[in-house]
Amino acid sequence: YAKSQGRNNCQLFSPRMAELAEESLSLEHALRTAADRDEFILYYQPQIEMATRKLVGVEALIRWNSQQFGMVSPAKFIRIAEECGLILQMGDWVLREACRQRAEWNLAGVADFPIAVNVSALQFRQPEFIRRVEEALQIYGISTTQLELELTESIVMHESGATAAALRRLRDMGVALSIDDFGTGYSSLGYLKHLPIQKLKVDGAFVRGIESDKADRAIVEAIVSLGRALDLTLVAEGVEQRSTITVLSKLGCHVAQGYYYCRPLPAEEFVSWFSQFNGEGKRQFQSATVTP
Ligand code: C2E
Ligand code: MG
Ligand code: MG
Ligand code: MG
Repeated sequence: YAKSQGRNNCQLFSPRMAELAEESLSLEHALRTAADRDEFILYYQPQIEMATRKLVGVEALIRWNSQQFGMVSPAKFIRIAEECGLILQMGDWVLREACRQRAEWNLAGVADFPIAVNVSALQFRQPEFIRRVEEALQIYGISTTQLELELTESIVMHESGATAAALRRLRDMGVALSIDDFGTGYSSLGYLKHLPIQKLKVDGAFVRGIESDKADRAIVEAIVSLGRALDLTLVAEGVEQRSTITVLSKLGCHVAQGYYYCRPLPAEEFVSWFSQFNGEGKRQFQSATVTP
Protein backbone atom coordinates (compact mmCIF):
# COMPACT_ATOMS: atom_id res chain seq x y z
CA TYR A 1 0.00 0.00 0.00
CA ALA A 2 2.79 2.43 0.91
CA LYS A 3 4.37 1.68 -2.45
CA SER A 4 1.37 2.99 -4.34
CA GLN A 5 1.61 6.25 -2.41
CA GLY A 6 4.93 7.06 -4.04
CA ARG A 7 8.51 6.70 -2.98
CA ASN A 8 9.37 9.92 -1.22
CA ASN A 9 6.13 10.19 0.59
CA CYS A 10 6.47 10.28 4.34
CA GLN A 11 3.00 9.67 5.69
CA LEU A 12 1.59 9.20 9.13
CA PHE A 13 0.00 5.81 9.39
CA SER A 14 -3.64 6.34 10.23
CA PRO A 15 -6.06 3.67 11.43
CA ARG A 16 -7.89 4.04 8.11
CA MET A 17 -4.65 3.26 6.28
CA ALA A 18 -4.04 0.24 8.46
CA GLU A 19 -7.52 -0.95 7.64
CA LEU A 20 -6.96 -0.46 3.91
CA ALA A 21 -3.58 -2.17 4.04
CA GLU A 22 -5.07 -5.13 5.85
CA GLU A 23 -7.95 -5.40 3.43
CA SER A 24 -5.58 -5.19 0.52
CA LEU A 25 -3.38 -7.93 1.98
CA SER A 26 -6.20 -10.34 2.61
CA LEU A 27 -7.63 -9.63 -0.86
CA GLU A 28 -4.20 -10.34 -2.28
CA HIS A 29 -4.05 -13.57 -0.36
CA ALA A 30 -7.45 -14.69 -1.66
CA LEU A 31 -6.57 -13.52 -5.16
CA ARG A 32 -3.60 -15.90 -5.23
CA THR A 33 -5.90 -18.90 -4.95
CA ALA A 34 -8.78 -17.52 -7.01
CA ALA A 35 -7.62 -18.96 -10.34
CA ASP A 36 -7.20 -22.47 -8.92
CA ARG A 37 -10.64 -22.28 -7.38
CA ASP A 38 -12.17 -21.22 -10.72
CA GLU A 39 -13.48 -18.05 -9.13
CA PHE A 40 -12.96 -15.86 -12.20
CA ILE A 41 -15.60 -15.50 -14.87
CA LEU A 42 -15.95 -13.28 -17.90
CA TYR A 43 -19.02 -11.14 -18.42
CA TYR A 44 -19.86 -9.67 -21.82
CA GLN A 45 -21.23 -6.24 -22.70
CA PRO A 46 -22.54 -5.46 -26.19
CA GLN A 47 -21.31 -2.63 -28.40
CA ILE A 48 -23.93 -1.22 -30.77
CA GLU A 49 -23.36 0.72 -33.97
CA MET A 50 -25.78 3.60 -33.59
CA ALA A 51 -26.48 4.21 -37.32
CA THR A 52 -27.46 0.58 -38.02
CA ARG A 53 -28.56 -0.42 -34.50
CA LYS A 54 -26.53 -3.58 -34.98
CA LEU A 55 -24.28 -5.34 -32.53
CA VAL A 56 -20.69 -4.93 -33.72
CA GLY A 57 -18.77 -6.43 -30.82
CA VAL A 58 -18.70 -7.28 -27.14
CA GLU A 59 -16.27 -6.35 -24.39
CA ALA A 60 -15.16 -9.09 -22.01
CA LEU A 61 -15.02 -7.88 -18.40
CA ILE A 62 -13.56 -10.04 -15.66
CA ARG A 63 -15.55 -10.82 -12.52
CA TRP A 64 -14.26 -12.39 -9.33
CA ASN A 65 -16.71 -14.37 -7.30
CA SER A 66 -14.63 -14.94 -4.17
CA GLN A 67 -15.62 -17.61 -1.70
CA GLN A 68 -14.40 -15.33 1.07
CA PHE A 69 -15.43 -11.86 -0.11
CA GLY A 70 -18.29 -12.44 -2.54
CA MET A 71 -18.32 -10.47 -5.79
CA VAL A 72 -15.26 -8.20 -5.88
CA SER A 73 -15.14 -5.37 -8.42
CA PRO A 74 -12.27 -5.31 -10.93
CA ALA A 75 -11.85 -1.67 -9.94
CA LYS A 76 -10.56 -3.10 -6.68
CA PHE A 77 -8.68 -6.26 -7.59
CA ILE A 78 -7.00 -5.38 -10.92
CA ARG A 79 -4.76 -2.85 -9.16
CA ILE A 80 -3.82 -5.40 -6.50
CA ALA A 81 -3.16 -8.03 -9.15
CA GLU A 82 -0.89 -5.56 -10.94
CA GLU A 83 1.01 -4.74 -7.75
CA CYS A 84 1.74 -8.36 -6.92
CA GLY A 85 2.33 -9.57 -10.47
CA LEU A 86 -0.71 -11.86 -10.57
CA ILE A 87 -2.06 -9.81 -13.47
CA LEU A 88 0.14 -11.74 -15.92
CA GLN A 89 -1.44 -15.08 -15.13
CA MET A 90 -4.90 -13.50 -14.87
CA GLY A 91 -4.53 -11.61 -18.14
CA ASP A 92 -3.50 -14.76 -19.92
CA TRP A 93 -6.52 -16.57 -18.55
CA VAL A 94 -8.80 -13.76 -19.79
CA LEU A 95 -7.27 -13.94 -23.26
CA ARG A 96 -7.76 -17.69 -23.51
CA GLU A 97 -11.20 -17.71 -21.96
CA ALA A 98 -12.39 -15.04 -24.42
CA CYS A 99 -11.02 -17.10 -27.33
CA ARG A 100 -12.62 -20.26 -25.92
CA GLN A 101 -15.96 -18.47 -25.65
CA ARG A 102 -15.70 -17.14 -29.19
CA ALA A 103 -14.94 -20.66 -30.47
CA GLU A 104 -17.97 -21.99 -28.60
CA TRP A 105 -20.11 -19.25 -30.14
CA ASN A 106 -18.71 -20.10 -33.59
CA LEU A 107 -19.79 -23.71 -33.14
CA ALA A 108 -23.22 -22.63 -31.92
CA GLY A 109 -23.68 -20.31 -34.91
CA VAL A 110 -23.73 -17.10 -32.88
CA ALA A 111 -23.07 -14.07 -35.16
CA ASP A 112 -19.47 -13.32 -36.10
CA PHE A 113 -18.70 -10.29 -33.89
CA PRO A 114 -15.30 -9.81 -32.21
CA ILE A 115 -14.64 -10.05 -28.47
CA ALA A 116 -12.62 -7.16 -27.01
CA VAL A 117 -10.23 -7.98 -24.19
CA ASN A 118 -8.70 -5.46 -21.76
CA VAL A 119 -4.94 -5.63 -21.54
CA SER A 120 -2.89 -4.34 -18.65
CA ALA A 121 0.38 -2.49 -19.29
CA LEU A 122 2.48 -5.09 -17.45
CA GLN A 123 0.88 -7.83 -19.49
CA PHE A 124 1.51 -6.03 -22.77
CA ARG A 125 5.17 -5.44 -21.92
CA GLN A 126 5.96 -9.11 -21.49
CA PRO A 127 8.31 -10.05 -24.32
CA GLU A 128 6.15 -13.11 -25.01
CA PHE A 129 2.84 -11.22 -25.12
CA ILE A 130 2.34 -11.60 -28.87
CA ARG A 131 3.17 -15.27 -28.71
CA ARG A 132 0.53 -15.67 -26.01
CA VAL A 133 -2.04 -13.95 -28.20
CA GLU A 134 -1.14 -16.20 -31.14
CA GLU A 135 -1.34 -19.27 -28.93
CA ALA A 136 -4.76 -18.36 -27.59
CA LEU A 137 -6.06 -17.84 -31.13
CA GLN A 138 -4.52 -21.11 -32.35
CA ILE A 139 -5.62 -23.30 -29.45
CA TYR A 140 -9.24 -22.40 -30.06
CA GLY A 141 -8.97 -22.03 -33.81
CA ILE A 142 -10.57 -18.61 -34.02
CA SER A 143 -9.85 -15.92 -36.59
CA THR A 144 -7.62 -12.97 -35.64
CA THR A 145 -10.51 -10.71 -36.66
CA GLN A 146 -12.61 -12.16 -33.84
CA LEU A 147 -10.30 -10.72 -31.19
CA GLU A 148 -9.76 -7.09 -30.26
CA LEU A 149 -7.44 -5.67 -27.64
CA GLU A 150 -8.27 -2.65 -25.48
CA LEU A 151 -5.06 -0.88 -24.55
CA THR A 152 -4.52 2.01 -22.17
CA GLU A 153 -2.93 5.31 -23.10
CA SER A 154 0.02 4.38 -20.88
CA ILE A 155 0.69 1.34 -23.08
CA VAL A 156 0.54 2.99 -26.48
CA MET A 157 2.31 6.18 -25.40
CA HIS A 158 5.34 4.23 -24.24
CA GLU A 159 7.97 5.43 -26.67
CA SER A 160 9.95 2.31 -27.24
CA GLY A 161 10.75 0.43 -30.41
CA ALA A 162 9.42 -2.74 -28.81
CA THR A 163 6.00 -1.20 -28.17
CA ALA A 164 5.71 0.17 -31.69
CA ALA A 165 6.80 -3.16 -33.18
CA ALA A 166 4.33 -5.14 -31.04
CA LEU A 167 1.45 -2.84 -32.02
CA ARG A 168 2.31 -3.15 -35.72
CA ARG A 169 2.64 -6.90 -35.46
CA LEU A 170 -0.82 -7.22 -33.88
CA ARG A 171 -2.31 -4.91 -36.49
CA ASP A 172 -0.70 -6.94 -39.29
CA MET A 173 -2.08 -10.14 -37.77
CA GLY A 174 -5.54 -8.63 -38.09
CA VAL A 175 -6.22 -8.05 -34.39
CA ALA A 176 -8.04 -4.72 -33.95
CA LEU A 177 -6.61 -2.36 -31.34
CA SER A 178 -8.41 0.33 -29.39
CA ILE A 179 -7.36 2.89 -26.82
CA ASP A 180 -9.51 2.54 -23.74
CA ASP A 181 -10.67 5.36 -21.46
CA PHE A 182 -9.41 7.88 -23.97
CA GLY A 183 -9.01 11.34 -22.50
CA THR A 184 -8.32 10.27 -18.94
CA GLY A 185 -4.64 9.45 -19.32
CA TYR A 186 -1.70 11.58 -20.14
CA SER A 187 -2.31 12.17 -23.83
CA SER A 188 0.08 13.76 -26.17
CA LEU A 189 -2.08 13.95 -29.26
CA GLY A 190 0.80 13.78 -31.71
CA TYR A 191 1.39 10.11 -31.01
CA LEU A 192 -2.04 9.19 -32.40
CA LYS A 193 -0.84 9.99 -35.89
CA HIS A 194 1.61 7.11 -35.99
CA LEU A 195 -0.24 4.46 -34.04
CA PRO A 196 -1.64 1.40 -35.83
CA ILE A 197 -4.90 1.53 -33.88
CA GLN A 198 -8.49 1.45 -35.14
CA LYS A 199 -10.65 2.71 -32.28
CA LEU A 200 -10.87 5.27 -29.54
CA LYS A 201 -13.08 4.51 -26.58
CA VAL A 202 -14.33 7.72 -25.01
CA ASP A 203 -14.34 7.35 -21.24
CA GLY A 204 -17.73 6.94 -19.60
CA ALA A 205 -17.07 9.77 -17.16
CA PHE A 206 -17.27 12.28 -20.06
CA VAL A 207 -20.14 10.49 -21.78
CA ARG A 208 -22.34 10.50 -18.69
CA GLY A 209 -21.99 14.28 -18.40
CA ILE A 210 -22.68 14.95 -22.04
CA GLU A 211 -26.12 16.51 -21.48
CA SER A 212 -25.60 18.18 -18.12
CA ASP A 213 -22.05 19.43 -18.28
CA LYS A 214 -20.76 21.80 -20.96
CA ALA A 215 -17.16 20.83 -20.38
CA ASP A 216 -17.87 17.10 -20.70
CA ARG A 217 -19.74 17.73 -23.92
CA ALA A 218 -16.90 19.84 -25.30
CA ILE A 219 -14.40 17.10 -24.46
CA VAL A 220 -16.47 14.39 -26.16
CA GLU A 221 -16.96 16.65 -29.16
CA ALA A 222 -13.22 17.28 -29.44
CA ILE A 223 -12.33 13.59 -29.12
CA VAL A 224 -14.92 12.62 -31.72
CA SER A 225 -13.78 15.17 -34.26
CA LEU A 226 -10.12 14.33 -33.72
CA GLY A 227 -10.85 10.60 -34.03
CA ARG A 228 -12.93 11.06 -37.18
CA ALA A 229 -10.23 13.17 -38.80
CA LEU A 230 -7.79 10.33 -38.17
CA ASP A 231 -10.23 7.74 -39.60
CA LEU A 232 -10.71 6.01 -36.27
CA THR A 233 -13.91 4.37 -35.05
CA LEU A 234 -15.32 6.14 -32.00
CA VAL A 235 -16.86 4.08 -29.23
CA ALA A 236 -18.65 5.80 -26.33
CA GLU A 237 -18.62 3.95 -23.01
CA GLY A 238 -21.05 4.37 -20.14
CA VAL A 239 -24.14 5.19 -22.22
CA GLU A 240 -27.08 5.00 -19.84
CA GLN A 241 -29.83 7.06 -21.53
CA ARG A 242 -31.65 7.06 -24.84
CA SER A 243 -31.10 10.81 -25.06
CA THR A 244 -27.32 10.30 -24.88
CA ILE A 245 -27.51 8.17 -28.04
CA THR A 246 -29.15 11.06 -29.87
CA VAL A 247 -26.42 13.49 -28.83
CA LEU A 248 -23.60 11.05 -29.59
CA SER A 249 -24.99 10.31 -33.06
CA LYS A 250 -25.23 14.02 -33.82
CA LEU A 251 -21.62 14.51 -32.77
CA GLY A 252 -20.54 11.75 -35.15
CA CYS A 253 -19.71 9.01 -32.68
CA HIS A 254 -20.10 5.52 -34.20
CA VAL A 255 -20.59 2.92 -31.50
CA ALA A 256 -22.21 2.97 -28.05
CA GLN A 257 -21.78 0.68 -25.06
CA GLY A 258 -23.50 0.98 -21.72
CA TYR A 259 -26.30 0.11 -19.35
CA TYR A 260 -28.84 1.68 -21.70
CA TYR A 261 -28.44 -1.32 -23.98
CA CYS A 262 -27.28 -3.92 -21.53
CA ARG A 263 -25.18 -4.46 -18.41
CA PRO A 264 -22.25 -6.86 -18.68
CA LEU A 265 -23.74 -10.39 -18.52
CA PRO A 266 -22.45 -13.96 -18.26
CA ALA A 267 -22.13 -15.62 -21.71
CA GLU A 268 -25.43 -17.47 -21.69
CA GLU A 269 -27.46 -14.52 -20.48
CA PHE A 270 -25.75 -12.33 -23.02
CA VAL A 271 -26.76 -14.69 -25.84
CA SER A 272 -30.37 -14.69 -24.71
CA TRP A 273 -30.33 -10.88 -24.51
CA PHE A 274 -28.85 -10.79 -28.03
CA SER A 275 -31.50 -13.14 -29.43
CA GLN A 276 -34.16 -10.61 -28.40
CA PHE A 277 -32.25 -7.45 -29.23
CA ASN A 278 -34.20 -5.26 -31.62
CA GLY A 279 -31.89 -2.26 -31.84
CA GLU A 280 -33.40 -0.53 -28.85
CA GLY A 281 -32.23 -0.16 -25.30
CA LYS A 282 -33.41 -1.17 -21.91
CA ARG A 283 -36.89 0.27 -21.72
CA GLN A 284 -38.11 -1.44 -24.88
CA PHE A 285 -36.27 -4.62 -23.99
CA GLN A 286 -37.84 -4.85 -20.56
CA SER A 287 -41.37 -4.08 -21.67
CA ALA A 288 -41.05 -6.66 -24.44
CA THR A 289 -40.09 -9.38 -22.01
CA VAL A 290 -42.44 -8.75 -19.11
CA THR A 291 -43.60 -12.05 -17.74
CA PRO A 292 -47.00 -12.32 -16.10
P1 C2E B 1 -13.20 -0.41 -18.75
O1 C2E B 1 -12.42 -1.32 -19.63
O2 C2E B 1 -13.20 1.04 -19.11
O3 C2E B 1 -14.66 -1.01 -18.74
C1 C2E B 1 -15.82 -0.25 -18.64
C2 C2E B 1 -16.39 -0.31 -17.24
O4 C2E B 1 -17.60 0.48 -17.21
C3 C2E B 1 -16.80 -1.71 -16.78
O5 C2E B 1 -16.60 -1.75 -15.38
C4 C2E B 1 -18.29 -1.74 -17.11
O6 C2E B 1 -19.01 -2.67 -16.33
C5 C2E B 1 -18.68 -0.33 -16.75
N1 C2E B 1 -19.88 0.14 -17.46
C6 C2E B 1 -20.35 -0.26 -18.66
N2 C2E B 1 -21.45 0.43 -19.00
C7 C2E B 1 -21.69 1.31 -18.00
C8 C2E B 1 -22.71 2.31 -17.77
O7 C2E B 1 -23.59 2.54 -18.58
N3 C2E B 1 -22.60 3.02 -16.61
C9 C2E B 1 -21.61 2.79 -15.70
N4 C2E B 1 -21.61 3.52 -14.58
N5 C2E B 1 -20.64 1.86 -15.88
C10 C2E B 1 -20.68 1.13 -17.03
P2 C2E B 1 -15.99 -3.01 -14.67
O8 C2E B 1 -16.46 -4.26 -15.34
O9 C2E B 1 -16.21 -2.85 -13.22
O10 C2E B 1 -14.44 -2.88 -15.00
C11 C2E B 1 -13.71 -1.79 -14.53
C12 C2E B 1 -12.35 -1.73 -15.18
O11 C2E B 1 -11.57 -2.86 -14.78
C13 C2E B 1 -12.40 -1.80 -16.70
O12 C2E B 1 -12.70 -0.52 -17.23
C14 C2E B 1 -11.00 -2.26 -17.00
O13 C2E B 1 -10.10 -1.19 -16.96
C15 C2E B 1 -10.71 -3.17 -15.84
N6 C2E B 1 -10.94 -4.56 -16.29
C16 C2E B 1 -12.08 -5.28 -16.36
N7 C2E B 1 -11.85 -6.52 -16.83
C17 C2E B 1 -10.52 -6.58 -17.08
C18 C2E B 1 -9.64 -7.60 -17.60
O14 C2E B 1 -10.06 -8.72 -17.97
N8 C2E B 1 -8.30 -7.28 -17.68
C19 C2E B 1 -7.82 -6.06 -17.31
N9 C2E B 1 -6.50 -5.83 -17.41
N10 C2E B 1 -8.61 -5.10 -16.85
C20 C2E B 1 -9.94 -5.34 -16.74
MG1 MG C 1 -12.25 -1.66 -21.58
MG1 MG D 1 -13.07 1.73 -20.99
MG1 MG E 1 -13.62 3.46 -18.51
